[in-house]
Amino acid sequence: MATIYIGIGSNLDNPLQHVRQAIAELGILSECRFLTASGLYKSRPLTSPLAPPSQPDYINAVLAIETERDALNLLDELQAIERQHGRVRDGERWGPRPLDLDVLLIDDKIINHARLIIPHPGLHERSFVLYPLQEIAPDLSIPDHDSQKSVSLQELIARCDDEGLERLHDA
Ligand code: ADP
Ligand code: MG
Repeated sequence: MATIYIGIGSNLDNPLQHVRQAIAELGILSECRFLTASGLYKSRPLTSPLAPPSQPDYINAVLAIETERDALNLLDELQAIERQHGRVRDGERWGPRPLDLDVLLIDDKIINHARLIIPHPGLHERSFVLYPLQEIAPDLSIPDHDSQKSVSLQELIARCDDEGLERLHDA
């Protein structure tokens, strides 16, 4: 049985509603047991030369489930849920989206597959992932792709500016 952490984000078309609904949908995935969800957070969009300028704020949350399901099969279902929320993949990364579901961690596994990189590559430096994770799993240790060693969530948070992240309320 693996514990899987999933990151949820939305910044289009009533983001709070998309995130709340996504938490409900992820809570009843088949062959999965819902463990816990973080509160809802508000974050400023990532700035990158590749990201389109001036997007609306994001609503973010993180949740944990337990399952024996195959990770790629689960990713297929997460992408189907994204599509049901009106997400169209137009190739633009970091663009505005009604729903983004990222597989953050699967136990202490490291996966390098064309469709699935675990731990999620942005996890180590994103306040809108690290702070909600701390709320539900403060003692996590996270494997590092390069060194193959683990780093504690506490250490990553100590290095990470909160970037104006705001906890709104419970999910
Ligand atoms: P981003 O979340 O970086 O803005 P997308 O949500 O559009 O980008 O995802 C782009 C691709 O990332 C997907 O097609 C998916 O196969 C791949 N991917 C790789 N690793 C992961 C992961 N851990 N969780 C979700 N998608 C991932
Ligand atoms: Mg994504």
